[in-house]
Amino acid sequence: TIDRTQREYSEAAKKALGRSPQLYINGEWVDSSGGETIDVEDPSSGKVVSKIVEASDKDVDRAVAAARTAFDDGRWRNMPPVARQKIMNRLADLIEEHADELAELEAIDVGKPKGMAGAIDVPGAAAHIRFCAGWAGKINGETISPYTMPGDMMFAYTLKEPVGVCAQIVPWNFPLLMACLKIAPALAAGCTTILKPAEQTSLTALRLADLIAEAGIPAGVVNIITGYGHTAGDRMVKHPDVDKVAFTGSTEIGKLINRNVTDTLKHITLELGGKSPVVVMPDVNVQETAPGVSQAIFFNSGQVCVAGSRLYAHKSVFDDVVEGMAQTKDFWAPRPSLDPDAHMGPLVSKEQHERVMGYIDAGKRDGASVLMGGDAPSDDGYYVNPTILTDVNPQMSVVREEIFGPVVVAQRFEDLDEVVKDANDTQYGLAAGVWTKDASAAHRIASKLQAGTVWVNCHAMIDTAIPFGGYKESGVGREQGREGIEAYLETKSVIMKL
Ligand code: NAD
Repeated sequence: TIDRTQREYSEAAKKALGRSPQLYINGEWVDSSGGETIDVEDPSSGKVVSKIVEASDKDVDRAVAAARTAFDDGRWRNMPPVARQKIMNRLADLIEEHADELAELEAIDVGKPKGMAGAIDVPGAAAHIRFCAGWAGKINGETISPYTMPGDMMFAYTLKEPVGVCAQIVPWNFPLLMACLKIAPALAAGCTTILKPAEQTSLTALRLADLIAEAGIPAGVVNIITGYGHTAGDRMVKHPDVDKVAFTGSTEIGKLINRNVTDTLKHITLELGGKSPVVVMPDVNVQETAPGVSQAIFFNSGQVCVAGSRLYAHKSVFDDVVEGMAQTKDFWAPRPSLDPDAHMGPLVSKEQHERVMGYIDAGKRDGASVLMGGDAPSDDGYYVNPTILTDVNPQMSVVREEIFGPVVVAQRFEDLDEVVKDANDTQYGLAAGVWTKDASAAHRIASKLQAGTVWVNCHAMIDTAIPFGGYKESGVGREQGREGIEAYLETKSVIMKL
């Protein structure tokens, strides 16, 4: 049996948890105007371990005013790119210097294994800032020859300018990484920002604020406020002094935010939910594929927007693949996030635990068979065992809806056209996977899948240089890569009569 007692926190973590709840506005730590707070829980134990500010409308207004002034007076956007790049690289260095502490805070806050946070979240955050820092000096317009006007009389060019003040809102599954994914392109473009982490997981964003100050990012350029979405987040989204909203979270809230920006017509990018299909072709090596498709769903307890939650295996390999997945049960058995042997931790919250267990129960009621898991192993902490459901059909909620937990629905297919049709039979279009040795089949399927990213023989390989985003109801716009920088720029055309 597994000991699910959470391990002792380090001194650095205790210090971060013991801070008085404050907001980072205009380069200073400030008290909230309202004095309300939100409890911070460790999902590995279910215990309250700290408190953060619940930002009021006044706090949001103050942060927006700071970002507005910092944008309008040009203290950041008019700084030579070489200087901005240097400061951003310094921030990446500081993240690496504090990697252990940040990984531990992420583990305590989200419930993800510390080893995983140290291997993926923290280096990913630093890499993202470095990649974007490099863009700061490579943002250029073009000179353009007019088509309907004489070229010797007219001169035209474009300028790429920062879009302005950004409201950036992120979810709880990769808090530090998501925070850096948001602020880095904004900083490279010369924007200023107000970032709101999720109310469940704000610890690393608050530590990031310390590092932002230490790196030398001028006051007001990045403001970090904590609070609830329907209050603070809503205020940010609707604020008339905000020029762009960048949101990562659920499709439901993404749609609401999209409606809420219409009155002020802000620029908007939305990175939303998914129900990503994984297609396993008959030619695969099952020994390699089964652990791969298990990781596709069980990584981060399935709380991943691109989780491979719908498995379609060819009927000739179906039994072997699901049997191979079942053999990974011990590897993924949930443990406390600070257990060095943990590969999977608890879910982030009681609410999420109830939601996931509710889906598993609905699947059982609808006639699905539980091939593995399907239960919660402990009364303390929000653990759910890795779960494989078979005998499912496309009408079931477990097949149609995003569960955001360690639950995969496994189905057989016979021919390629049929599986592509089934894979695309969803409101979502974030990502998809194909496992095969047949390169032609891989490219053919990749071209037919309606998804912003298609992985072949791997899953969730996300890189700062590669554009990422959703088709259909999985999002609007792209983050990362060149397109991710473009999302923070306006194009100005200048046309001059000579
Ligand atoms: P959520 O939509 O409930 O909350 C996300 C953030 O939005 C939080 O910071 C929350 O406080 C804020 N928010 C909530 N209501 C708001 C409102 N009315 N106005 C402004 N802000 C508001 O999502 P979650 O439960 O935190 O995260 C899980 C979801 O995020 C899943 O659907 C997952 O697929 C999605 N996600 C998508 C990506 C991606 O890149 N596409 C990445 C990670 C997670």
